[in-house]
Amino acid sequence: AYDMLIVGGGPAGAAAAVYAARKGLRVGVAAERFGGQVNDTLAIENYISVLETDGPKFAAALEAQVRHYGVDVMNLQRASALKPAEQPGGLIEVALDNGAVLRSRSIILATGARWRNLNVPGEAEYKNKGVAYCPHCDGPLFKGKRVAVVGGGNSGVEAAIDLAGVVAHVTLLEFAPELRADAVLVDKLKSLPNVNIITNAQTRELTGDGQRLQALHYTDRLSNETHELALEGVFVQIGLVPNTDWLKSTLELSKFGEIVVDVKGHTSLPGVFAAGDATTVPYKQIVIAAGEGAKASLSAFDYLIRTPQP
Ligand code: FAD
Repeated sequence: AYDMLIVGGGPAGAAAAVYAARKGLRVGVAAERFGGQVNDTLAIENYISVLETDGPKFAAALEAQVRHYGVDVMNLQRASALKPAEQPGGLIEVALDNGAVLRSRSIILATGARWRNLNVPGEAEYKNKGVAYCPHCDGPLFKGKRVAVVGGGNSGVEAAIDLAGVVAHVTLLEFAPELRADAVLVDKLKSLPNVNIITNAQTRELTGDGQRLQALHYTDRLSNETHELALEGVFVQIGLVPNTDWLKSTLELSKFGEIVVDVKGHTSLPGVFAAGDATTVPYKQIVIAAGEGAKASLSAFDYLIRTPQP
């Protein structure tokens, strides 16, 4: 059995593993895909102290550091169930898709999240070539250019306000007849001179020259007419989905499916901690996930030294 088993090998899980291994604990990491979302990232320019790197390089560095400390890395392993300990301080079980069951005195859940896709033609083709999901990450790449934000909820409207300060022009597209964001955000958005809002708009297709995105095509749901917007970037803001389906009946999740954690990373189950994009901690970023992973690991260490084994 492990002292600490980490489920997820993104920045949060990797940071948790490094902190735990440096305490001399027996540590395992089970990850569906080691590296997590950063594998899909082209340029990373906001990880503090690193001027610029790219996703695959960052992911390889995460794995190298974790392996340096002798952590048992189980890559390409998906967890499907969590079973709480039968007695306080006892072993907690994690079942894998392949049928194996891992046991540990403490668990860190760091399964991250995924951006909901539009699922229209061109989206996959132009990902990282104009199609983006994170304004904090990729906004500066579109300085002086025209972009659209798809999605008129809080995250879409926040993204449009944020981008309006960086890019030349923002068009916000919302499927429904009204924006669904808080009134204060909508008022702020409407006050900006370089923003255009289109409601009842159904995004149909993203097109370009094969190298870069050039246009977004949408249908006006009232008139059924199709329009084309010439632009350089599209930010898809229709939801971030935490990878927590497998935990639904086991511990407390928020209404968005995020694992509810306190400031120390405790979940609703003793001995089970969580960190990163899968949790209620706001602002889904690498530096935040890594910090939260370190914190959850130290909390789990604290739990281990205070909790006698049955
Ligand atoms: P993730 O990176 O999502 O890692 C989750 C891990 O859990 C993965 O290893 C995954 O395979 C695994 N997993 C999931 N479910 C299971 C399961 N059931 N069993 C086992 N393993 C499981 N942030 C920045 O700060 N700067 C950027 O420039 C930036 N650019 C981005 C660009 C893109 C295209 C994307 C998608 C995200 C970007 N982000 C950026 C956000 C950043 O990648 C995330 O905030 C960060 O990776 C979250 O780390 P995490 O460890 O919580 O989760």
